[in-house]
Amino acid sequence: MSGSAQPPEDDDLLQRLRCFHTDYFPQYRERFRELVDQGQHPSTLFIGCSDSRLVPYLLTGAGPGELFIVRNVGALVPPADGLSGLHGTAAAIEFAVLNLKVRHIVVCGHSHCGAMRALYGETPDEAVHLKAWLDMAREAALPVRLSEEALRRTEQRAVVLQLERLMAYPMVRRRVEAGALFLHGWHYVIEDGQVHVFDVERGCFVPAVEAGHSGTGPYKAFEEPDWLDLGAGRAAGDN
Ligand SMILES: [Zn+2]
Repeated sequence: MSGSAQPPEDDDLLQRLRCFHTDYFPQYRERFRELVDQGQHPSTLFIGCSDSRLVPYLLTGAGPGELFIVRNVGALVPPADGLSGLHGTAAAIEFAVLNLKVRHIVVCGHSHCGAMRALYGETPDEAVHLKAWLDMAREAALPVRLSEEALRRTEQRAVVLQLERLMAYPMVRRRVEAGALFLHGWHYVIEDGQVHVFDVERGCFVPAVEAGHSGTGPYKAFEEPDWLDLGAGRAAGDN
């Protein structure tokens, strides 16, 4: 097979693959060589929603080898007990912490999240996996009618819920308590281009321009602030 054949004009993906090889890869050839020879040593596990508007490399300015990324619908962390089935995300958490020994775990939700919105509506019957998956986020839903404000709060509550779930993974808790791993809860507001960082001391999300740090730092037992009201959400989720 020769590489000189013209790609069909309507095959945009093939054109992009060629473009990567000719235009982008040469600039990073040595970096990729290094990453192959020395292996990857990413500092951060990034758990983000699959939404196409959330672009981890743009948000963090990271390049090749810096982020170990797992994305799923809603940026959810499955319960550590494994009772809810086999989950690639749980496997990624174990691998990132035990093998790669990442220093940071970011959970990144975002504004206008379709997954969080879906908690307030109907999911097609055929979407059996999606329905079961979203059940893991029901605790974050509020017992109110959907509004922009309710959606924003749900998105942020979901991020906090995933941080709590992360702490139930033994290897995560152990390393966090040893000061070797830091958790970060982020909510990205697409239209503002700004990440709001969960501040565990203040119990709220703070815009990055005002935040004193990028995450929760060494974990402290999380005390639920009034506005978060996970209790009400939990009750609603059980209904
Ligand atoms: Zn989303």
